[in-house]
Amino acid sequence: AKSAGGNRFEYADDEADARAITRHGLTTALPAALERGEFFIEYQPLVRLGDGSVHGAEALVRWCHPQHGVLGPDRFIPLAENTGLIVPLGRWVLQESVRQARFWQDEAPGGGKATRPLRINVNLSPTQLHHPGLVAETVDVLERSGLEPGALCLEVTESALIGADDDLLKPLRQLAEMGVDIALDDFGTGYSNLANLRRLPVSVLKLDRSFTQGMQQHPVDPVDIKIVEGIVQLAHSLELAVTVEGVETSAQAEQLRQLGCDTAQGWYYARPGAPDRIHSLVLADAI
Ligand code: C2E
Ligand code: CA
Ligand code: CA
Ligand code: CA
Repeated sequence: AKSAGGNRFEYADDEADARAITRHGLTTALPAALERGEFFIEYQPLVRLGDGSVHGAEALVRWCHPQHGVLGPDRFIPLAENTGLIVPLGRWVLQESVRQARFWQDEAPGGGKATRPLRINVNLSPTQLHHPGLVAETVDVLERSGLEPGALCLEVTESALIGADDDLLKPLRQLAEMGVDIALDDFGTGYSNLANLRRLPVSVLKLDRSFTQGMQQHPVDPVDIKIVEGIVQLAHSLELAVTVEGVETSAQAEQLRQLGCDTAQGWYYARPGAPDRIHSLVLADAI
């Protein structure tokens, strides 16, 4: 059997085989990587479309692999999901990003008493949703950091909640009752019907990037506009806030603002980056 080290996969003739080995290698390296502290978090700002102020940031995990360099979450989150390592990894991401958010709040002018304290968004995978410790661990992380529950938003993909029964929704309901926001991530890519939204304890819809991409056509397809308009109206009538992701141009931002979207995220504002960047944005914002 071949070992999973080095960069020799680049030269393998059988690409599928090379990918499989890399996958295997990465999977077995995950637990030690967590212990050795090879994971780090980048933060991407969420901006209010109304006035351009910083609403919060989404925590996005990366793996600084000793041989392969920095790996994006698409490379290893699915593997961590399969092996269950996503539970301790997700716990670490939550702990670390909540601590970070509390630090930003404390350092901001007005400190923890700022009128619109910075918020932190953290992704949850399906396995974490099924993990019985989720609620207790989240409460614990919030209590230890001193971050108010209302400053935390947990992002769950639409597909993770399709067909969700009450057992799965119960922990989310408990968190929502504590004041934690639950966002439906990648909204519009699954098949959940809109009426189903009423049943879910969510307070934010995150419109998938595909909608944002539609807003970049010249001219924008009127049907695409109607669809986004309809989603925003329905969301607002259910008292859900609408966030858009993948905003790359000012034209997209303006279009989405006109359509009533509340907050936005994307390269147009900032790529995901080190925590200091959010810190300086927060400071700049208050001037
Ligand atoms: P997501 O939650 O949909 O996150 C948004 C992704 O879009 C991020 O990719 C982000 O870097 C990227 N993005 C942001 N703005 C733009 C833009 O303007 N244009 C384009 N083309 N892309 C943009 P990233 O960081 O590679 O993360 C990929 C996915 O990995 C995330 O998708 C999320 O599902 C998952 N993920 C990331 N961190 C975590 C984590 O801590 N836990 C779990 N369970 N999943 C995570
Ligand atoms: Ca997300
Ligand atoms: Ca998303
Ligand atoms: Ca996505």
